[in-house]
Formats: sequence, structure tokens, C-alpha cells
Amino acid sequence: TNLNIWNNVDEYFMEKLIPADAELEAVLQANKAAGIPEIDVSPTQGKLLYLLAKIKEAKNILEIGTLGGYSSIWMARALPNEGKVYTLEIDPEYASVAKENIKRAGCEHKVEIIVGKALDTLPILKKAGQLFDLIFIDADKPNNPHYLKWALELAKPGTIIIADNVVRDGAVIDEINVDERVQGVRRFMDLLQEESQIESTAIQTVGNKGYDGFVLAVVK
Ligand code: SAM
Repeated sequence: TNLNIWNNVDEYFMEKLIPADAELEAVLQANKAAGIPEIDVSPTQGKLLYLLAKIKEAKNILEIGTLGGYSSIWMARALPNEGKVYTLEIDPEYASVAKENIKRAGCEHKVEIIVGKALDTLPILKKAGQLFDLIFIDADKPNNPHYLKWALELAKPGTIIIADNVVRDGAVIDEINVDERVQGVRRFMDLLQEESQIESTAIQTVGNKGYDGFVLAVVK
């Protein structure tokens, strides 16, 4: 029942604030046709990423977890012409669907998909000397603590870090939960608590993706 009202309110906000968008709808359709799970960010969350990138006047964005490129496109749209989203994806089939989606959305000059395990490809970005204005962590949750360490390696003062799915229907407060995604998020929260180089908050969300939440952080 709650789900129903959250969903309806999300619909209302989308109708008011997020104009119908053929390019993004085509992404979701292409994902469905390719059998890609519907675990992209919601439209209201996608727009939040877009707005954060605008507020930050970001030029270089790093995304860990591309899926079909839905969130990559939202963020790419916030970039100036010379800006870039580097997005990391382990699954070559998802990456090729994402590539098509990004092309159809006219963002191919702004998005670079790097295929491989993020823990293998992040060191390549580091070696290239690339630093990012905004980093969106949205891949395999057990690795979230590692991704936070890498994010700090690839950040500069003022870099925004966002991590999605940190509530998991409330399971995040369950110390003995056997789900390693939950434990990954808990270790990620421990690191945020210990790490003096980062200031952060967490916001619980409800909507058409159920009950979840995200961490928003800024590097000192
Ligand atoms: N950010 C996407 C969006 O909102 O449209 C959703 C990303 S989805 C929640 C997580 C993605 O991370 C999946 O496509 C999955 O294949 C990818 N992934 C999982 N493990 C990974 C790893 N070790 N390295 C890179 N990507 C990984």
C-alpha cells in the first residue's frame, strides 16, 4: 500500500518536474528488450544527479556501475561540451547496450564506457592522472568500501561522492544480516565514520523504486 502512494507521488513529481523524454524512455525500452534488470536510478534520482553535476559545474564525472547507461546519460547532459563521464561496467553485454543507448541519446562524445571489473579499471584511471569532480558509486555493493577508497584516490578537494542503495529496505541497521551487500554498505558507513577527509550525510528515499537511500559526501 505504501508502495502505491510512493509510486503515485513519484509519478506526480515526474509529471510536474521532468518533461517526457523520448531519449531516456528509449533507454529503458532498449534495456528491457535486452533483458537488463530494471535497477537503474529512477527519473527523479537521475535528475538529482544531473542537478548535482550542474551545481558543481562538473567537467569530469566517474560512475562505477553503468548498466544500460541511464544514469550516465542524465549526468552527461549536465556537462559542458568538453566534459566527460567515465563509466565502469563489468558486463560486456550491458556495456554494448549502454553504448547504443548513449549514442541514440546523442551523448557519445561525452561518455566513455570502460569494460571490466571496476577494481581492475580504477587503477588505470589513477595512472592516467584523471581526477573527478563528481563520483557516483552504484555497482556491486560488497565492494563499496573499496570503491570509497578509490574515490578518495581519484578526488580533489570539493569532489562530490554519491553512493546509491545504502538503506536496502532498512536492512542496513541489521548487524548480523547475512547479505554481503548489506555488510558492504555497513563497512562503507564505518569508513565514512572513520575517514577524516570526507564530510557526508545519508538520505532515506521512497518512490517508484521502493524504500532505499543514498549517501552524499564532499571531499575536504
Ligand atoms: N548506474 C546505473 C543506472 O542508474 O542506470 C545502474 C547500475 S546497476 C545498479 C549496477 C551495475 O554494476 C550493473 O550493471 C553491474 O553489472 C555492474 N557491476 C557489478 N559488479 C561490477 C564490478 N565489479 N565492476 C564494474 N561493474 C560492476
